[in-house]
Amino acid sequence: MLKKVLCMIVVLSLIMGLTPACAQEQAQKYSKVYFDLFDSVITIIGYTTDSATFDRVAEQARARFEHLHQLFDQYHEYEGVNNVYIINRDACVEPVAVEDELFSLLQFVKREQPRLMGSVNIAMGGVLAIWHEYRLIGTEDPQSAVLPPIENLKEAAKHQSLDAIVLDEQNRTVFITDPAVQLDLGAVAKGYAAELVAKELEKGDMPSFIINAGGNVITGSKPLDGRSSWSVGIQDPRDPYGAALLDTVAGNHLSVVTSGDYQRFYYVDGVKYAHIISPDTLMPADLHQSVTVVAADSGLCDMLSTALFVLSYEDGLALLKQYPDVGALWLTTKGEILHTQNIAPLLKSNGTSDQ
Ligand code: AMP
Ligand code: MG
Repeated sequence: MLKKVLCMIVVLSLIMGLTPACAQEQAQKYSKVYFDLFDSVITIIGYTTDSATFDRVAEQARARFEHLHQLFDQYHEYEGVNNVYIINRDACVEPVAVEDELFSLLQFVKREQPRLMGSVNIAMGGVLAIWHEYRLIGTEDPQSAVLPPIENLKEAAKHQSLDAIVLDEQNRTVFITDPAVQLDLGAVAKGYAAELVAKELEKGDMPSFIINAGGNVITGSKPLDGRSSWSVGIQDPRDPYGAALLDTVAGNHLSVVTSGDYQRFYYVDGVKYAHIISPDTLMPADLHQSVTVVAADSGLCDMLSTALFVLSYEDGLALLKQYPDVGALWLTTKGEILHTQNIAPLLKSNGTSDQ
């Protein structure tokens, strides 16, 4: 695992920084890697005129990520923070007041839900928790890896109506009408958080940046080394070293978010079971190895990458008709690489470069 993470960092450093800083605008490139937020590796790279500015801005971004991680965390309690864990525990008894970022994220997902063709449901935390538990056991002790009993999954799936989550806009509270409904924001939280951090960076002292929050990549304004844009590599999940790329996307003020079956998974009898669950079958979605979504907003990209991972390519295209400014690239289980036409001008495979 560590070897894979280090490999990914090397690949990202190469992609994000092929060109050395030049004197053109006297800015230099700096970077920092954080290991303990959103169960992911978060890399921040930016151009500033001095290291003190970079350190200050990166620390602000890290602190912001940390707070958002606590807000969206469903597994742990933090003193003084009404987070997803507290909602799942208390909101069926009385309304829980939450901070703006969490309330807005819930509003966003509820608003988008009708367009998602049943692919993503943040109220299916009960089903996802069962898979999470079996995956943990199966990862820690592969000999004892088994699938969750389908009856348990079906029972949990009786309690996953998003209508049970009542948002009171005036009081900023969340109430859950069905005590068995559990929230899981894993499909969208990291991208939503990265979007908030990026918006703040854009207004601050380091507008030229690229963030990689565990596969959620966001670019700010262009790199200050003579290149016209940032390049974001899309990892090829078939490469065991994590170094090969499916393609490269060039762009500034852009999000590139990937969902894949290579991020979290376990094996039962030699078959791989990954962490994105189809609400229809209650089993891991297995039509694609990875789906990458490209658009301006990272929260939307994160939600849609999970959605497209669940849907067939054809249903995914139908879903995207509702989002004309969003593009996607699939690596299907059969090994086909497919993409929407609207991102063709951004892809290296189509001749685009960052020069
Ligand atoms: P991502 O890596 O962004 O695709 O998100 C995967 C995470 O989303 C999982 O670890 C679960 O926490 C959650 N998840 C998995 N499947 C679904 C689904 N169908 N609807 C909502 N959340 C899901
Ligand atoms: Mg997602």
